[in-house]
Amino acid sequence: MKTVSFDVVVVGLGAVGSATLYQLSKRGIAALGIDQFEPPHALGSSHGETRITRLAVGEGEEYVALAKRSHEIWAELEALSGKKIRTKTGGILLDSGVNPWSKHGVEGFWERTLRYAQNQQVSHRVLDLIEANTNYPAFQLPATGKVYWEEEAGYLFPEQAIETQLDQAKKQGATIWTSSKVKSIQSEGAHFRIQVEGKEVLAKQIVLTVGGWLKDFLPISSKKKLKICRQVLYWLAVEEGFTDWQRYPVWMWGYGAAPEDFIYGFPSLDGKTIKMASESFVEVDHPDQLNREVTAEEQEIFWNTKVEGKLVGLKKQFLKTSVCFYTVTEDSQFLIEAMAGDKNFLWVSACSGHGFKHSAALGEHLVQRLGF
Ligand SMILES: Cc1cc2nc3c(=O)[nH]c(=O)nc-3n(C[C@H](O)[C@H](O)[C@H](O)COP(=O)(O)OP(=O)(O)OC[C@H]3O[C@@H](n4cnc5c(N)ncnc54)[C@H](O)[C@@H]3O)c2cc1C
Repeated sequence: MKTVSFDVVVVGLGAVGSATLYQLSKRGIAALGIDQFEPPHALGSSHGETRITRLAVGEGEEYVALAKRSHEIWAELEALSGKKIRTKTGGILLDSGVNPWSKHGVEGFWERTLRYAQNQQVSHRVLDLIEANTNYPAFQLPATGKVYWEEEAGYLFPEQAIETQLDQAKKQGATIWTSSKVKSIQSEGAHFRIQVEGKEVLAKQIVLTVGGWLKDFLPISSKKKLKICRQVLYWLAVEEGFTDWQRYPVWMWGYGAAPEDFIYGFPSLDGKTIKMASESFVEVDHPDQLNREVTAEEQEIFWNTKVEGKLVGLKKQFLKTSVCFYTVTEDSQFLIEAMAGDKNFLWVSACSGHGFKHSAALGEHLVQRLGF
């Protein structure tokens, strides 16, 4: 078997891995990126047409700088490639104001969002209900409702972001192996020996960005910190003439005390459908065991519990669905850790359902952690 050597190997080329490889190549590091599939693909956590990006992230004030930096990197990538990655639409965060609600493990998400926007100079406004109802008649917010609006929010094209970072990395000298599953990684003194199907690699440093498949690599104590949770994305038909869904901002709405009492969505990209979803925290053991089918019964439940009485301007017609998954930590925060305390071997959790907007800057952060 042939053995090749690289300074750094990035295992997993989804949102975080492709960003890391791009940053390594920018610095002229001899880097190899490996993925078991053909990224961008629809089997991990980074597919489904769009991802919301926002700056005043209620998940934690410490993440605001990452989101801001990611916007700069997406702009740099757009300029380099001529490809569209980010679309600024503005974004609204609705709160029914009935039950206190938490999101991604954080209590008082709406209030925190507002506070972080004020603290971190994020352009925003609080809309009164008359303005909110006039501008966005699709949302049936109760009289107790609150609406936060943020100027720089919008959506990302996740598949385009990954593809562009991998294309740029390759242009800048990185090597990429796809359809290549990493079987094992062993530490051997000054380097690591990585077994890939039919090949072997020696690396001085490793970044493990395998998303939910971290379960295949971590010791049991760390593995237990990660929960794989199946998510479903729904594309619903819009009702012609009621409201112009194409001019809507990205939106998120917390309406109850349970973590699942939450919906979010996007403006219509095609004038015919909008993509929307909720969140689910039912655990599955491993990404390979995920049920990828969405049943008619699931669609019915989604309509009855997440759409009816909350949104108007949509038809009960599901034109497309897609299954994805979150990898959630106990407190929904990101984990970036050194494997067995070795600073040359970093692993990153797949960011608990809120990582895409930060992924470009996370890649940069990881490369800096490796000493570049
Ligand atoms: C439905 C849904 C909606 C979301 N919405 C948002 C949002 O609006 N905004 C936001 O900021 N975030 C959002 N997120 C979260 C965000 O998308 C994720 O945090 C992020 O995409 C995770 O990226 P990742 O690179 O860690 O994982 P992945 O993209 O899953 O990448 C992991 C990669 O590792 C590869 N791999 C695994 N094992 C091996 C192996 N043994 N050998 C080689 N390769 C391997 C896989 O093939 C895969 O390509 C959402 C997530 C989901 C599922």
